Amino acid sequence: MTLRAAGLRRLLAALLTGWALIAFASPAQANTDVDRAAAELLAGASVTSSPKAEFALSATEVRQLTDKIAASKTPIFVAVLPARAGSADDVLVELRAAVGLSGTYAVLVGDEFRAASDAGGAADAATQAFRAHQSEGIAAVLSGFIDLVAAPTPAVQAVESPTPTDDEGNLLSRLLFWLLGLGVIGGIVALVIAGRRRRGSDLASVRAALDEELTELGNQIAALDTSSSETAREAADRALNAYERARSAVDQMNSTAAAAQVTTALDEGRYALACASSSRAPARKPPCFIDPRHGGSAGTASWSPPGLAARTIPACATCLPDVKSGAAPRPREVRAKGGPQAYWQAGPAFHGYAQGYFPSTFDALFVGTTLIAVPPVASTATATRPSSARSTTASKPTGDFASGKVGGGNFSGGEPSRSPGKARRTGRGKSVE
Ligand SMILES: [Zn+2]
Repeated sequence: MTLRAAGLRRLLAALLTGWALIAFASPAQANTDVDRAAAELLAGASVTSSPKAEFALSATEVRQLTDKIAASKTPIFVAVLPARAGSADDVLVELRAAVGLSGTYAVLVGDEFRAASDAGGAADAATQAFRAHQSEGIAAVLSGFIDLVAAPTPAVQAVESPTPTDDEGNLLSRLLFWLLGLGVIGGIVALVIAGRRRRGSDLASVRAALDEELTELGNQIAALDTSSSETAREAADRALNAYERARSAVDQMNSTAAAAQVTTALDEGRYALACASSSRAPARKPPCFIDPRHGGSAGTASWSPPGLAARTIPACATCLPDVKSGAAPRPREVRAKGGPQAYWQAGPAFHGYAQGYFPSTFDALFVGTTLIAVPPVASTATATRPSSARSTTASKPTGDFASGKVGGGNFSGGEPSRSPGKARRTGRGKSVE
C-alpha cells in the first residue's frame, strides 16, 4: 500500500469515526511520540522503545539489538512506539524525516512492523524477517531483520539487488581511494626528489666554500719558506698533513654535516701554518668568528651580528678593533640560496662548516642564526575520526523512502509473544482505545 493510499485511508477513517478519532490520531499526538523517539535516535541510540508501546521491548532486548546493530556497522534505527503514534507507514516516514540521517529505519507501532531503507532493499528484508520470526515476537523479528540488512542474503538480493547508486558510490569511493593513494605516493616521491635536489645543491654550496679554503691553504703552504729552521719544517709538515686530511674529507663528503671534519682539519692546517711562519709558536686559539680563514683569534669582544643579539666572539688581530668599535667587519661570505651570505646566515647547510671551526662554543656563538634549523611548528594533524556507520549530516530520504516501498507485517495476523497490553486489536491491526 502506498503512503498516499495510507494517508487517504486515515483521512476517510477519521471523517467516518468522528472527532474523537481525529483527536486520537492528530499529528500533534503522533509527533510527540515520533519526536521523542527521533530525539533519542539522534542522541546516539540505535533502538528506542516507548514504555507506552503495546509491544515495548525489554531493557535486555533493547541492549541486545543495540549491540547487534553496532556489530553490523550499518546505520539502523529502530523505534517501538504505541499505536496512538499513528499508522506505522506514516510513522516510518515521519521518523525518517525527524531524524534526518540516511539509513535503515524499522518501526513497530502498536502491532504494525514496518521498515524501509535509504539504500533500498530493507522493505523486502522486513517482510522476510517478519514472515520468518513473527511467531517468536518482535525482538526476534527485529533481530532477523538486522541480520538481513547487515549482510543481505542472496535471497534478499534476488528480490532487490543493490541500487546502481550504491555501485557507483562504491566505484567512486574506490577510485577516490586509489587517486588519493597515488596522490600521496606522488607527493612523497616529489618530496624525496625535492629533498635530494636541495641536499645536492646544499652540499654543492658547502663543497664550493671548502674547496675555496682548501686551495687558499694549499697555496699558503706552497709559498712557505721552510729553510729557516727544523721547527718550521715540522710545522709545515703538520700543515700539509692537515691539508691532506681536509682534502680527503672533502672528497668523501656526502652530507653537509661532514663539513665539520674538513673545517677542523683546515683550522689545524692554518694553526700549523702560523707556527711555521713565526719564530715562536703562537697559542692555540679559536679561529676568527668574522672569517675563520683569518686564523687564530687575538681576543674576544661582545658583538651583535646584523639583526642578531649580542654575543662574545673571538676575533683575529685585524677584525678585533673593528668588532670592539662596533664597526661591521666584512664576514666570510659563502654561496647561499639568495646569493652570497655571511656563513652564519647561510642556512642549516653550513651548520657542519661552523661546527668544525667552533666545536666547543658553537651554541653560544651561533644562537639565533640560520645555521640552527628551527623545527617547523608542528601542524596538528587532522585526526581521522573513526569511521562511523552513521552519517552525521541530514540527508534527503532515498531508496525505499523515495519509492514509498515499505515492508513488514502486522502482528495482529500472527501470534505475538506477549499480550498487547491495554490495546485491543482490530482486524487490520490498528489499535484503538
Ligand atoms: Zn678576522
